[in-house]
Amino acid sequence: IQPHGVLLVLSPKSLSSNDGSDPDWTLVQVSQNTAEYLGKSPESLINQPLSVILSVTARQSLQQCIAGEFEAVNPLKFSLDIAGEPQSFAGVVHQSEDWIVLELEPSQDSGAVNFFDFYGLVKQPVSRIQQTQTLQELCQVAVEEFKQVTGFDRVMVYQFSEDGSGTVFAEKTEPGLTPFLGLHYPATDIPKQSQHLYLLNMLRMIPTVTYEPVPLFPSHLPDKTLLDMSFSGLRSVSPLHIEYLQNMGVQATLTISLVQNNQLWGMVVCHHNSSLKLPYERRAICEFLGQVIALEITTKSSREGAEYRLQLKALQASFVETLSQSPSLIAGLTQTPDQLMALTGSSGAAFCEKGEKVLLGQTPSSEQMIGLISWLGNQFGPDNIYHTAELSRVYPPAADFDHGVSGLVAIAISQPQQLYVVWFRPEVLQTVNWAGNPEKAVKEVDENGGVSLSPRQSFDLWKQTVRQRSLPWKPCELEAASELRSSVVGLVLQRADELSALNSELARSNVELDSFAYIASHDLKEPLRGIHNYSSFLIEDYGDVLGEDGADKLNTLMRLTQRMEDLINSLLHYSRLGRADLVMAPVDLNDIVRGVVDMVKIGKSEAVRLEIVRSLPTTDCARTQVTELFTNLITNGIKYNDKPQKWVEVGYLSPAEALLQGNILPDNLLRASISTEGEQAVSRVGSPIFYVRDNGIGIREKHIETVFRIFKRLHSPTRYGGGTGAGLTIAKKIIERHGGQLWVRSVYGEGSTFYFTLKATTDE
Ligand code: ADP
Repeated sequence: IQPHGVLLVLSPKSLSSNDGSDPDWTLVQVSQNTAEYLGKSPESLINQPLSVILSVTARQSLQQCIAGEFEAVNPLKFSLDIAGEPQSFAGVVHQSEDWIVLELEPSQDSGAVNFFDFYGLVKQPVSRIQQTQTLQELCQVAVEEFKQVTGFDRVMVYQFSEDGSGTVFAEKTEPGLTPFLGLHYPATDIPKQSQHLYLLNMLRMIPTVTYEPVPLFPSHLPDKTLLDMSFSGLRSVSPLHIEYLQNMGVQATLTISLVQNNQLWGMVVCHHNSSLKLPYERRAICEFLGQVIALEITTKSSREGAEYRLQLKALQASFVETLSQSPSLIAGLTQTPDQLMALTGSSGAAFCEKGEKVLLGQTPSSEQMIGLISWLGNQFGPDNIYHTAELSRVYPPAADFDHGVSGLVAIAISQPQQLYVVWFRPEVLQTVNWAGNPEKAVKEVDENGGVSLSPRQSFDLWKQTVRQRSLPWKPCELEAASELRSSVVGLVLQRADELSALNSELARSNVELDSFAYIASHDLKEPLRGIHNYSSFLIEDYGDVLGEDGADKLNTLMRLTQRMEDLINSLLHYSRLGRADLVMAPVDLNDIVRGVVDMVKIGKSEAVRLEIVRSLPTTDCARTQVTELFTNLITNGIKYNDKPQKWVEVGYLSPAEALLQGNILPDNLLRASISTEGEQAVSRVGSPIFYVRDNGIGIREKHIETVFRIFKRLHSPTRYGGGTGAGLTIAKKIIERHGGQLWVRSVYGEGSTFYFTLKATTDE
């Protein structure tokens, strides 16, 4: 034991008098310093009744104490007669295995505290502690109050983390002392075993570090076992711990355990540069304050936890709100990067979709992400979330990641789409800061002579153990990530539902429209034919009566009915096109174009050059419809042409060539091309881009879109031999039914180029 008291081990059975009024025990083991405190040598005490030391009243109160629950501290106050002089002692009794252990410490009356003193001493600290708002504030007040009550030079609150390592969380020192605030130390500094002892024994004191430990006499108990001293307050401490304290120049310490749910949350640690023995009563106050603080810590940390959870929930709600209003998932997820990161308390985030990525905050580089994402794809479990605080351990390349990224949480919104949201955290070391200057701390410690262990060395050691590790992810943070996933999936599904509803609605109205057009045009034809016929009868039979003027009008009527029939036929054709099944097969487009060219040339007296400028590929398409498509485009090219030397060229461009040539691709194809990087992007627009180019009259910019409208003609039917105005509408429909796209580029007065693709060009 430490020499500032005596320890007596008593036999378990009380040697009571018959009526129990005079209880007594046999002394079986005593500390070897009994002569110093009790005036009797250890040898003279062994196997003697306790009555040789304690008066009957003292023994009675001991008996009472033992009869009650006496697992914790049980302070007793004794007045012993030492060589004729009354001497006050504070006694603490506890049971160790079967034995009763009584520890006595002389108590100076000056240090004694009566009830009013006690009240005065605890009132202010307790009310200050209770007024604090945050955990940090609480611990700061705690160290200040402890300093006040104990008079130690330095008071700290250590906080343990789950892995057993610790941090100096709050500190109050005498002016001029180097602060240790913010220093971390590894789990090995306070091993599990000692932590266990701190749990059993809430308060430990070493009044003088350089003490000479006092052995017990005899060394063994009567049953030949060694005394279990876990609960002993006087128990000597490990020489290593003493060395550690000496290296820091500490002469006296006091530690009070802060226990939360039967776990050591942390400790109040007091250091003093010279010997300092706190009287038992003051220690009792410290222990009491320790319990008040521990209680407050429990409420504060659970409140802070709850507040954090609430904060995350609120963030999540507002985030999902923005998300639901944004045009696309990527825009919604990335428009408020800070919120996205705060959602999991991270310092970087990435949105990834099929190899594309948007990086926000502190993340690995774009290059580093490529490998990471493909690795990540295999890590997800059925819950579609993956997290680690030690990335490089599971994915070694992470050791070299930018920003010391060491922790990661990822959610898979869609595995097949490789749609992931990933959050990152840096190495713990980058998040650690300390108020003092630890460099300075090590120097001071060194000047004090010790080198083997010091707070600074502990800090270094701790740094080794946390290399490439991030702060752990809290369950509520993981929950937030997982809930974000559910919300996003929900939104995506909802959108898909809306889209498919819209789609079927559109499909339905399309079919309706087609059949309406079909029925209408079919039924219209009959009366029209009648009008036409009766007009011709009228001319034939009553031409004379009507006169020239009348016949003219009837002829106009017949021309108009003819025109109307043409229109109705076009409409019929158009509506049939929407209803007919396309028979797809590989077709050599050169064949088709050559056929069209031959047909078009018949009956054309004027000089027209028609040419395939680049041999066309064989393509999957519906032969009849594509023939009609080329016919329409090529005839238009010749029709709407006032040049003496007319020409029409047919060819195609690869998507990359189209991109290189500048203003050719329409916006949506352009977007699809640019969204990925460089050349690779272009290859996403996979199919060739065909064109029919002429040197005709061109189309004014304002008519570029109207030419595709049904029955829309830019010229009177008499000019350029125009048709019904359905040709381009039909062409567009044919292409759309192939999944492709038709568009035109034109310079008015110089010529036009109609471009088209024959299949879906992007994943859109
Ligand atoms: P139509 O069957 O009457 O030719 P289209 O639908 O094919 O009708 O074309 C609609 C209008 O677009 C035409 O009236 C014409 O003014 C214009 N147009 C079509 N092709 C060309 C072209 N190659 N050059 C200039 N104008 C054109």
